[in-house]
Amino acid sequence: NKIELQNLVQLGKIGSGNSGTVIKALHVPDSRIIAKKTIPVETNNELVINQLLRELTIMRSVKAHPNIVEFYGAYYDQSSNNELVILLEYMNCGSLDKILSVHKAFCQRNKASPDKSWFNELAISKISYAVLTSLSYLYKNYKIIHRDIKPSNVLINSKGQVKICDFGVSKKMVNSIADTFVGTSTYMSPERIQGNVYSTKGDVWSLGLMIIELVTGEFPLGGINDTPDGILDLLQRIVNEPSPRLPSNLDETRYKREITDFVNRCCVKNERERSSIEELLCHDFVTKYSSAENDKEFKHWCKKMKNYIKSEKQLKKEETERMKFE
Ligand code: ATP
Ligand code: MG
Repeated sequence: NKIELQNLVQLGKIGSGNSGTVIKALHVPDSRIIAKKTIPVETNNELVINQLLRELTIMRSVKAHPNIVEFYGAYYDQSSNNELVILLEYMNCGSLDKILSVHKAFCQRNKASPDKSWFNELAISKISYAVLTSLSYLYKNYKIIHRDIKPSNVLINSKGQVKICDFGVSKKMVNSIADTFVGTSTYMSPERIQGNVYSTKGDVWSLGLMIIELVTGEFPLGGINDTPDGILDLLQRIVNEPSPRLPSNLDETRYKREITDFVNRCCVKNERERSSIEELLCHDFVTKYSSAENDKEFKHWCKKMKNYIKSEKQLKKEETERMKFE
């Protein structure tokens, strides 16, 4: 089952983030499509490299879980170009941020109001369950705190599965690799921004923000202008302003009061008053969609998303072609 790098054929870029680039690749011996993430490591510091190798050992040791993106292996080759290569299960509907941006493009094209979110209550409930149950698993068995729950680290496939990724490589390590603002995420909880000791409840805060974003289509605490100052300003707002909330005028035919209550329990600034992962796993919003019928409906939703992504990609391609000729 082991994957050898030389048996991979690269199929195209999926996306890139602060730390690296993700490429879709074919593993020829078993025709398996995988995701290959490459992180440049700009260091010769042996301490950093050892830390990195330790982190990879942790990732390797985490046993498969239905809501965690499967890990196929990692390589660090100092001799070539100081790259860390991580091989992961490929999720064919992509990440939640990608689905959100496809949704926005779709709305623009069709002149529809973008607040009619594609993320209905069933989908958000399923996503919340997947995030909570995998966080619980990681903490109970490995004492791992994710620290980076956000739309781009929650992935979906057309089998109706929701999985989290990017928990293994700590921000401390990524920080030593790249520049200062890497690792500063706007989904960070107030206690973390303030540099206090933090627990798994930091991830609960991030989940709450993520849900607001899925419902409204916008990050709840206002934008950053991509300048370091913008980020500092935003972090300041997270600490000083009241907790973000779902809009009070939610469409009642789409969202019931459970989702509002759920978000209100996640987005509590004081960590001690915030609900825990285990408490939230028992919340009505999470438990009410657990029937087999709901699973089927969610799978259908995922397939629909995949088709939207595909057609949006096709339209974009055609547009680019047209532009070339004009
Ligand atoms: P950051 O660097 O801040 O964590 P990010 O999560 O967007 O941001 P990456 O983790 O490098 O950055 O991922 C880049 C993109 O690749 C993601 O946004 C996601 O859409 C896609 N992606 C990542 N892993 C997979 C995967 N296993 N299957 C399919 N798509 C993936
Ligand atoms: Mg990521």
